[in-house]
Amino acid sequence: MPSSYGLKIWAENNFIIKDDRVHINYKSTPSILQIVEQIRSKGIRGPILLKLPHLITKQIRTLYNSFEKAIDENSYRGKFRAVYPLKVNQYPETLKQIIESGREFEYGLEAGSKAELVLAMAQTPLGSAITVNGFKDEEMITMGFIAAQMRHNITLTIEGLGELESIIEVAQKRELAIPNIGIRIRLHSGGSGAWAKSAGMHSKFGLTSTELLEAFRLLKEHNLLDKFTMLHFHIGSQVEEIAPLKRALREAGNIYAELKKIGAKSLKCINIGGGLSVEYAQHNTKRVQNYTLSEAANDVIYVLREIMNSKGVEHPDIMTESGRLITASHAILITPVLELFSHDYQEHSLRLKPTNPPLIEELVELNHLLKRSNCIEYLHDGLDHMESLLTLFELGYIDLCDRSNAEILVHLIIKKSLYLIGKNRPPEIEKLSERLQERYLVNGSFFQSIPDFWGLNQKFPIMPIHHLDQRAIRAASLWDITCDSDGEIGFDPSAPLYLHDIDLDKEEYFLAFFNIGAYQETLAMSHNLFSRPTEVVVDIDDNSYVIRELNEAYSILETLEKINYSSDEIVSKLKNRLKEDDFSDKQEKKDTLSMCKNFLTQNGYLRTTK
Ligand SMILES: *Cc1c(COP(=O)(O)O)cnc(C)c1O
Repeated sequence: MPSSYGLKIWAENNFIIKDDRVHINYKSTPSILQIVEQIRSKGIRGPILLKLPHLITKQIRTLYNSFEKAIDENSYRGKFRAVYPLKVNQYPETLKQIIESGREFEYGLEAGSKAELVLAMAQTPLGSAITVNGFKDEEMITMGFIAAQMRHNITLTIEGLGELESIIEVAQKRELAIPNIGIRIRLHSGGSGAWAKSAGMHSKFGLTSTELLEAFRLLKEHNLLDKFTMLHFHIGSQVEEIAPLKRALREAGNIYAELKKIGAKSLKCINIGGGLSVEYAQHNTKRVQNYTLSEAANDVIYVLREIMNSKGVEHPDIMTESGRLITASHAILITPVLELFSHDYQEHSLRLKPTNPPLIEELVELNHLLKRSNCIEYLHDGLDHMESLLTLFELGYIDLCDRSNAEILVHLIIKKSLYLIGKNRPPEIEKLSERLQERYLVNGSFFQSIPDFWGLNQKFPIMPIHHLDQRAIRAASLWDITCDSDGEIGFDPSAPLYLHDIDLDKEEYFLAFFNIGAYQETLAMSHNLFSRPTEVVVDIDDNSYVIRELNEAYSILETLEKINYSSDEIVSKLKNRLKEDDFSDKQEKKDTLSMCKNFLTQNGYLRTTK
């Protein structure tokens, strides 16, 4: 049985395998390969960042439907609202789809910095919410007032008392509309996952109970109580268990009820932050999620309803700021494989002599006669012979040519046996396969395209997009083209990745990295000056698909400009270094110069594949 790379675990039905390829499971279900080939036919090389807007639409709808269903089923009386946290992916093509698909729900935006606030002010449809988290100075707070003046439905969430004091000052100083005020609370219950620091008593953010009471006093004293509308918490990203979220909800729900009791008359919303997780695992044993979205929605609604009912408080509106859940699935990185490192171990590379040492003749025989019923025995024999041949080489009884033949033959025997043994390999054979990992060199940079792999050891689903009718037998480790040993995804026996044995001289091989639409694009590192891959946005319809947008990777000159070099200066320096006297004639110098210029306008990825 060919492998399905855990599609059932992580793909949420977004992708399916048909024939030998991965297809996008939507409308006309095109294969990813078909799209990649079309893009490459335009002369584009290097990695491709494929974006599928319909998956953003799907996620937004699923989010709203899950909460609205839970509200219905629990006879909950508050409303569900949501904002998209910009930090998860601010790129225009992604954001455009979020705005478009979110319009019918009044899906808003969350900003965590000055630049994000400006983006939110420009892009949020009037009426949809803007929330502002993170540390703010007086200028940023003033921008919040300007947003309110523009009639934006904006809430500034204060992270500390100092920010509230600034809001009070700006309100007194300016004649501008006053934004709504939210307060982030510091919970006792800690967070979860790799970002556990986002909550708990030592977290970077939020007000303690004492500070909360002081904030309440300040708001009252300055007649701003009617602007205090939201209570906020956020327990961290990729929250893999539901328990910490429930604990946080109980704490926040009770604080909300107390504030209502002491007179927070305009307070009407609990913002539960983000953190809903995405399944990245390809193996059952590595699954991370212990809840579904509808379970989370039900828990949130149920917990808050119980608290409010028991304390006699009206049900608050509920807001979420989940981001990873919304954008992770819509982006895929596709990289051509440039090289398999044991490429030379092919039958046609053998240099057999008219007469060979007896052990080599035997290896030829073993390779020739290998079949399912004898493969383990022949494999053992082959490995034995290899040991003997290496000793013979050291003693000078066989030459380099014999040694090369031995290596190739043993490699062929191992490869064939692994294929013949199939899935249920004895442990000893499994170990052998791990030791003989194949290294696949991919045309991309892990630092640029999956920085969380480098920073957090985050695993992403990886699979070939074709050849899926063949058995993948090579234990694989992946190397990127940066000159950094961290640019390697090693073979992990506890979550093994097997890939195909492909002769790249004859056919191409493309690997896809899935679920990379959250956080990876702006966290990207231009290590070794590799730029953002070529971005392609594809709309799929009932009959076919359309490449809506194609933003080519930065050229080498553009990449240098990004780090403040003057491209004019670089070009003229190169020009001056090509001296007339070093060329036999003028034309040759001219040709060399134009070759050089052409090189500078291409992107920095390799062009070696067809
Ligand atoms: C990062 C962040 C989010 C988004 O978290 P996800 O895990 O992507 O859902 C939401 N709210 C706040 C305050 C954040 O800092």
